[in-house]
Amino acid sequence: MATPELRSSNLDLRRDEARVPPTDCLRCGACCFSAGENYVRVTGDDWSRLGEAAERLAQFVGNRAFMKMKDGHCAALEIRQPAGRPPEFFCTVYEARPQVCRDLARGSPACEAERWRKRSDSPA
Ligand code: SF4
Ligand code: SF4
Repeated sequence: MATPELRSSNLDLRRDEARVPPTDCLRCGACCFSAGENYVRVTGDDWSRLGEAAERLAQFVGNRAFMKMKDGHCAALEIRQPAGRPPEFFCTVYEARPQVCRDLARGSPACEAERWRKRSDSPA
C-alpha cells in the first residue's frame, strides 16, 4: 500500500522501474528520499564513522541524531545529471554511511518497498 507522506516529490521512479531492482543503486536512490525530517537515524557509531561529515550533514533532534534532509532527500545525496544519460544518485558519504543505509540491501524486500512506495505514479 502506498504511503503518500513518504513519497518523494522529485524522484522520477516510474511504476515499471519500481518493480525490478536496478543493477546499481546509482540508478535509483529511492531509499535516500523522504518528506520526513527525521528519516535517516545516525547512531553514535555512525557519527564517529562519518567524522567531519557528521557536523556538516547530521543534526541532533532532542537526544537523537539524524541525517539532515534537503529538497526531499538526505543531504548526503548528490544527484548528478550526466549529459544525455539518466540521473545518478550518488551517496557522498558511501564508505561511512549510517548503519541503517548499510542494512538496506539492494533487491531485498525493504528495497522493493522503498521503490514501490516512492514511485512517481504512486496514488496520492
Ligand atoms: S537499496 Fe534499493 S531503494 Fe535503495 S538505492 Fe538501492 S535499489 Fe534503490
Ligand atoms: S547516507 Fe547516503 S545512502 Fe544513506 S540516505 Fe544519505 S545519501 Fe542515501
